[in-house]
Parts: sequence; structure tokens; C-alpha cells
Amino acid sequence: MKSTDIWVLWRPALFRLGGLLLVALLIGLLIDAVFPALALALALALLWHLRHLFLLDRWLLNSGLTEPPKGRGIWSRIAEAVFARTRESQLRRQRLASILKEYRDAADAVTDGLLVMDGNNKVRWFNLGAADLLGLERRIDVGQPIDSLIRSRKIQEWLVVDEPDPDGMLTPSPVNPSVWLQLRVFEAARNLKMLIARDVTEMQRIDSMRKDFVANVSHELRTPLTVISGYLETMHDEIGRDWLPVITTMEQQSLRMKAIVEDLLTLSRLDSASGLEDERPVPIEPMLRALVAEAEMLSEGRHRIHLRLSTAVDLMGNAKDLRSAFMNLLSNAVRYTPADGEIVVEWRESAGAVEFSVRDNGTGIAARHLPRLTERFYRVSTDRSRSTGGTGLGLAIVKHVLSLHGATLDILSEPGVGSEFICRFPATRARAPGN
Ligand code: ADP
Repeated sequence: MKSTDIWVLWRPALFRLGGLLLVALLIGLLIDAVFPALALALALALLWHLRHLFLLDRWLLNSGLTEPPKGRGIWSRIAEAVFARTRESQLRRQRLASILKEYRDAADAVTDGLLVMDGNNKVRWFNLGAADLLGLERRIDVGQPIDSLIRSRKIQEWLVVDEPDPDGMLTPSPVNPSVWLQLRVFEAARNLKMLIARDVTEMQRIDSMRKDFVANVSHELRTPLTVISGYLETMHDEIGRDWLPVITTMEQQSLRMKAIVEDLLTLSRLDSASGLEDERPVPIEPMLRALVAEAEMLSEGRHRIHLRLSTAVDLMGNAKDLRSAFMNLLSNAVRYTPADGEIVVEWRESAGAVEFSVRDNGTGIAARHLPRLTERFYRVSTDRSRSTGGTGLGLAIVKHVLSLHGATLDILSEPGVGSEFICRFPATRARAPGN
């Protein structure tokens, strides 16, 4: 409000007071009692103001939402202003409450479980989905620490770690073990975390059907393929010259099919493994020497293959799976590096990790292919892969083996320059040799 406006509003009140005092002064002069007359006038003015103050206070104590007391002059304006503000804030509160209700109703309509907790993992709020999937009750559980509410040790342990895995956690529901849940936690605001629980039972069922199907088909194909290759081998020795090229091609194709079936079975086994089996310290140096010797046989002298053992540490893991992953990378380097190329195999330590690396100066891979290389049957060049005996499953196997070891695969590559495949294991897997 501008100062001139307030002056306009207060002017009558001041004039009235001035007028009253003037009248009191005149009467005081007339009756020769100026001071008592002025005092009486001031007392009357004070009483009038006190009365309005009392009415305003009483009205405010009664919530201030009914019609304001009818006053005069400045008091009526103050009461109107207070009334307008309380009405406005009441309307704002109602609007906020209705927006909040709309949000809560919308959150309750979501079938996923949504739960908000504070920095100390105390539950602030959750929707009906979370109540169903996690077995919570709104009346009792709000304000409680989340790990004391969920009856599953696995989930409790996962929830209390400082930084839960961003990929989330797959677990049976604590209320119904036949329901599979995917849980994710993320930072919603400062000191506020959001837990999302999604029912993935159907997805799990389809996924396990797919895994079973691939495993069963591969298994069923194994025996007929062995029989066919056996017969082809016999025919190879007996058949006349005219048919020899045909039989040789058939033999090559059946070997390819056998390799695919074997790789598919390996993938199925790794896929259905819930964790690492047969975990023990794996002596890395002898393994790498044997792998390099095998790669040299595969290369038939066309490449220079160097082994650099920059560290002597061994690795905790599954020897058979690690061997197959490392050999896949080495045989790829041989297959995708032209004659006279160079391949360097290195075992080294780096900050917080131990690394197995295979570097070549071969064909290299364009950047757009890199994110998809570990997909099953993804190949940059199908012809080259097939002509060198590739199944298209090698890197998928590598990725699975590494993920079971808590390791990652980094691929650095440039077309025409070469590639480096780095398996990065957490340093916690490193073991002093002989331990
Ligand atoms: P494949 O049996 O076809 O080699 P992989 O899964 O082992 O299947 O590899 C997938 C694709 O990645 C290959 O087809 C090839 O195009 C590319 N690749 C893998 N390793 C290398 C490498 N060292 N140099 C160039 N390309 C490679």
C-alpha cells in the first residue's frame, strides 16, 4: 500500500480525534476545566478503541472465519483486511489439501509399491501398493524404521547399505514368496529416499520359460548332432572323391552347430546360476601361459602374442568359467587380427581393481557397435565371424562370467587401429599367490 493511500484511510480517524480534543478544549475553557475535559475526551476515545480491540480479539479467538465484527472507521478496515487474509490462507490450505489428496489417490492407484523414507530410513509415507507387496499397515508403520518392518533379512540388509545397487534387487515378496519383486531405491530429495517395489512375477515366469526352452532345445539337439557328425566322419573316409567337398562342408556345418549348442548350454548354465559355484583361489599365471599357448596354436604363427604379467596376484573365482571367458577374448583377438598383427595379454593391478586385458591391433570396431557387442548373436560382420568359426555367443558368455564374479567388461576400440577388452575385477577378489 502506498503511503498516500494509508494517509487517506487514517485521515478521518485523526480528524475525528482532533475534533474531539478541540470540542473538549472549548468546553474545558467554557467551564474553566481544560485538563479534566481533555482527559475525559481521551478516556472516551480510549474506551471506544478498547471496545473495538476487544471485539476484534474475540472474533479472532473464534477462528476469525465468521463475518468480522461490525466496526467503524479504521477498525472496520483492519477487521476486513484480517478477514480477507484468513479467508485467503484457509482457501490456500484447502487447495493444498485437495492437491495432496489427489496426489495420494493417484499414488494409491499405481499398482507398484511406492514408499518414502527419511535419511535414517524411517518410513514417512507409502501407497496401497507398498502396503500389499511389502506387508505394511499405514496406521502403525509410518514413522518406524523400514528395516524393522520388512520381514526379510535379504531385503533388510540391502536397504541399509549406503548405496544400494542402482539396478535394484530381485527378491520374493516378504508376504508371499510366490510373488517376485523388483526393488529399487533412489534419492528423491535431500534426506528423502524413495523405494519402488514392482511385481515382476509374470516377467520372471516368462524369463524362466525362455531359459528353460533354450536349455531344453540345446540339450535335445546335442545327441542328434553327435550322431550326424559321427556318421559324417565315417562317410568322409569311405566316400568317393566326387562327394568329398559336400561331406566336408556338412562336417564343418555340423561342427558349427555343435559349437553353438555348447555355447548355448554354457549360457543357460550361467544364466540360471544364482551365484558363483566352486569358488576358490585361481592361480592366474599358469592359466594365462596355457591360454597364450592355445592362442598361438590357433594363430598358427600368423601373430606375435605377448604375455605381460604385471602383478603376481591370483583371483578368487571359478577356474573353469574364467578360463572360458579369457579364452573367448583371446581367440577373438586372433580371429579379428590380420596376419602379422600383434596381441598383448596383460594381467595387472589398477586403482581398486585387478585387470585382465587383451589388446590387439586388428580390425577394430566402430563405436556404434560397442554397446551391443555382448548381446547374443550380435556380430559386426557375420561373414567374418562365421568364416573364423564364431558362434556369436562368445562375448555374451564373457559378460555372464564376469557379472557372476562382480566384474565388468570395458571395450576400447577404433576401426583400423585395434581393440582392447578389459575385464575389471574388484580388488577384493585378489589373493596373494599360493593362498
Ligand atoms: P563371434 O563368435 O562372432 O566372434 P563374439 O560374441 O565373440 O562372437 O563377438 C561379437 C562380435 O564382436 C564379433 O562378431 C566381432 O564382430 C566383434 N569382435 C569381438 N572381438 C573383437 C576383436 N578383438 N576385434 C574386432 N572385433 C571383435
